Amino acid sequence: MTTTSTHFSRVPISALPPDVAERIAAGEVIERPVSVVKELLENALDAGAREIRIEVRGGGLRLMRVTDDGYGIPADELERACARHSTSKIRRVEDLERLRTLGFRGEALASIAAVAEVNIVSRAIESEASGAEQPAASLTLRGSEVTGRGHKARLRGTTVTVRDLFYNVPARLKFMRSPRTESAHIEQVARRYAIGYPAVRFQLAQEEQIILQTSGSGDLATTLAELYSLPLLEVLDPLSASLDEGSEHAFRLHGYIGNRALAQNSRQHITVFVNGRWVHSRPLFDAVESGYRGLLPKGKHPLLVLHITLPPRDLDANVHPAKTEVKLMREAEISSAITKTIRAALERSPALPETLDFPGPGLVYQRHLPGIRRRGLHVAETTGHYSAQQAGPTSAELLASLRPLAQLQEAVILAEAPDGSLYLIDQHRAHERVIYEHLRRTYAGVQAEQQDEEHWPEAHLLLEPVVVELKRHEVDLFEQRLPMLRGMGLECERFGGRSFLVRSVPGNSEQLAGHLPELARMAAEDSNDWQDRLFIGLACRSALRRGRVLGLDEQRALLNALAQASAPAVCPHGSPIILHYSRSFLIDRFDW
Ligand code: ADP
Ligand code: MG
Repeated sequence: MTTTSTHFSRVPISALPPDVAERIAAGEVIERPVSVVKELLENALDAGAREIRIEVRGGGLRLMRVTDDGYGIPADELERACARHSTSKIRRVEDLERLRTLGFRGEALASIAAVAEVNIVSRAIESEASGAEQPAASLTLRGSEVTGRGHKARLRGTTVTVRDLFYNVPARLKFMRSPRTESAHIEQVARRYAIGYPAVRFQLAQEEQIILQTSGSGDLATTLAELYSLPLLEVLDPLSASLDEGSEHAFRLHGYIGNRALAQNSRQHITVFVNGRWVHSRPLFDAVESGYRGLLPKGKHPLLVLHITLPPRDLDANVHPAKTEVKLMREAEISSAITKTIRAALERSPALPETLDFPGPGLVYQRHLPGIRRRGLHVAETTGHYSAQQAGPTSAELLASLRPLAQLQEAVILAEAPDGSLYLIDQHRAHERVIYEHLRRTYAGVQAEQQDEEHWPEAHLLLEPVVVELKRHEVDLFEQRLPMLRGMGLECERFGGRSFLVRSVPGNSEQLAGHLPELARMAAEDSNDWQDRLFIGLACRSALRRGRVLGLDEQRALLNALAQASAPAVCPHGSPIILHYSRSFLIDRFDW
């Protein structure tokens, strides 16, 4: 064996033998079993299927079968369907601009056939319509070679069976994880498409066990209930927004977000579709995340399904082999609409009595949930039950209708709703939210030049001015901001060196006095959102503390003030203000 010289010796360039080229090309599309399932599902959906059944054995390495009732493939086109770059979905490059199908490259079946044994049985809609009793055609390929042709009886639609995946690509086979890992990936993809297509009935069986199924009700909330076994009315809030309706660039958002009690430890349950295509898009995920940042505890992520619909022209799906990345023409507008919609929904959703353990990818929801009788997967009967339209009164109406009963630990207001459910309201956080919104409404955007006396806030003079000392690098910014701070009710003046004298504060002066050094540092922060952070600081430091006894009238006043807030359910730090024990929860727990 030559050693060093091989490094430098050059081998002439030659074309790869077709079978090698095939397998390399296939590797781009078919990385692991789940890629096969994904491509077959997309084909079934493109064929207009209303019902799709998926069967998997051995993590997909032994067998994967997808059966649909779509428009089928005519017998004389079967072989063409398995050839590379053959598709019925586009004819010329311009067609990419009006793409309405998930597939378009014409390489999935060819790629699968290059690295496995594939059998396709299909009965096309044409043969059914002609009334001719033609049986379905069957074609088998192994490593791209046709190994069998035949006929079989079946109703309209297509069944694709894939066996021995990667039998001829040992390198790839070596890298496969355990069948269980592959099965989990397949389950995730199946769930994603089931969420994406609520009007289609899905069923996934792994090792002959039904893992998930949906009823094809067409309703997204019902579909989510079927997949996750959740008491949806209590934990999901609808999302919807549209922009530029009627214009040629109109786009629409719709979906659901789990409320704060359903917060998850991973992003796994965030699902985004663009024109029916599941996408993995950094910019869109960033927009989603800025929507819930600060509204969910740190490190928590929502259960979220978001459908974005826009003109095909405004979308480029042709940027990634698996077509999961897309380019959006109007990314900035879409992103900001997403952020706003999510934020608004979460700000309104109250928390549940206790944090529910999310069932996760598994199906069985172990915990007994309030008011829900589950019978395996047959939740179709609950359609009405789960309807999002039934969502009760708005949070403002609801809070204003609460009747305070008592105070718990001198910290929590107990209140009864007209429907007999129990609400617990954290008095400190509620007051904090009220003050924060008041400060924002009144003084946000107060600029140095807007020193209009009429709009000066109520400033409370401190009995004794407080001296605060700042760090050297903070002094300049703080001094520049003095007029603005004055506009917010914080009247300060330079007191020589790095010291400032604080004469007045907005709100409860007694309580704030002790916190002025900390607040001054916030006011001197070199950041874009220093004003908001200062409002949060002011609100936190002047709000009613826990341990303060409140009479019923004071409790009612606080609830009324909270009812006016635009985000009554979360404090400005993102923690819950309200806990809710629903009537059905009580009935369930007491077993009434
Ligand atoms: P693409 O989906 O990009 O067109 P594929 O290799 O996945 O490429 O499929 C090739 C062609 O085979 C499709 O364009 C379609 O006409 C046909 N086909 C594949 N699967 C099905 C199916 N389940 N039902 C009907 N037609 C199908
Ligand atoms: Mg396809």
